[in-house]
Amino acid sequence: MHDPKALRGIESKAIHAGEYPDPVTGASAPNLVMSTTFVTDEPAGFSAHDLSDDSPFLYSRWGNPTVRQLEAKIAALEGAESAVCTASGMAAGSGLLLTLLSAGDRLVVSNTNYAGVAELVRDTLPRMGIEVAVVDTSDLDEVERALKAKKTKLVYIETPANPIMRLADVAAIAELAHQHGASLGVDSTFASPVATRPIELGADYVVQSLTKYYCGHGDAVGGAIAGTSESMRAINFEAGIHFGGVLSPFNAWMILRGTATLPLRMRAHEQNALELSGYLQNHPAVTAVMYPGLESHPQHALARRQMQNFSGMLTFQVADGSKVAERAAKELQIFHYAVSLGHHRSLIFWMPTEDLMSTSFRLSGDDLKGYREFAGDGIFRVSVGLETAQDLCADLDHILN
Ligand SMILES: *Cc1c(COP(=O)(O)O)cnc(C)c1O
Repeated sequence: MHDPKALRGIESKAIHAGEYPDPVTGASAPNLVMSTTFVTDEPAGFSAHDLSDDSPFLYSRWGNPTVRQLEAKIAALEGAESAVCTASGMAAGSGLLLTLLSAGDRLVVSNTNYAGVAELVRDTLPRMGIEVAVVDTSDLDEVERALKAKKTKLVYIETPANPIMRLADVAAIAELAHQHGASLGVDSTFASPVATRPIELGADYVVQSLTKYYCGHGDAVGGAIAGTSESMRAINFEAGIHFGGVLSPFNAWMILRGTATLPLRMRAHEQNALELSGYLQNHPAVTAVMYPGLESHPQHALARRQMQNFSGMLTFQVADGSKVAERAAKELQIFHYAVSLGHHRSLIFWMPTEDLMSTSFRLSGDDLKGYREFAGDGIFRVSVGLETAQDLCADLDHILN
């Protein structure tokens, strides 16, 4: 097996980290081990409490050789000591929140984030006696006020935030959280580790929906949490072994294959998104474009500091969004009118502000004003794929004219 120190660049890590040739056959590609159970030659305990890091594999919910290879690769890419894979990005987010937080604890969380997380923190956590403070985490003063107001266990942010492409300053929030005795978790799905590695910026945990850029091909759902070895032991114990939302080895194998080309794909996603956002900015029917790579993005300076790649996610606004959305769903030739993101295929979806407020976000006052500064009455969220950029522009041109 290679010395991990030889893997300096992110491209080398994406391909080789965590993987090893099969010790029996010498197979170069990682083995897909679907076995649920493993034969042991010595009696072992029946509780996961008896497991240690070098325990042999016993049962696939406790640990699986294919999933373990992906976990090691993710840890290397995120600059973390360790990672735990989960059945989905939501299983990663809920696994982290429910492992760390108990009744009486307080969570400070972004007021705009992935809809499933928004609903989980607003509806489920309070039901379990967890206090949730929802703030605009793009505003450092607001984060600080929330931390000063009351003892907080965890700050949980998303950057860039779904669906409006608003950023949060990971390094500054990590410092604030730590000053006030809280930990920081960052959902970095939109950025991918090619753009931003929150752990290296001071965060304690990073959450990824592997379904998106990591897998990259839109054909496997999965999630991951990364952090210190010690914290990941606790997460594996609760989120994996007890809550049971573990990643299927088959999906791990698919995601391992996708991850090998993550750095290459992110460069191509960024290139296409730059071309498409430039085209949209100059289109007379388009009233606003939000892409961190554009100088016109209100947080472009932060994006330059925090993102080594601007990723492939952008939004745009038009005067009559719902009408254009109807045409988009019926008439686009290349774009798929569909949710999700991070695939080789370009995806577009209309997200009206009023609908999202009544379902997931329920913002009012300054929070709603801040949301509207990025999203107006509604946005087309675009996951720019890997097709020919001119073809993508021509496809959108058709519905915008
Ligand atoms: C998709 C997504 C999730 C949830 O991931 P699943 O794999 O769909 O469960 C969480 N956060 C963000 C930012 C996402 O885009």
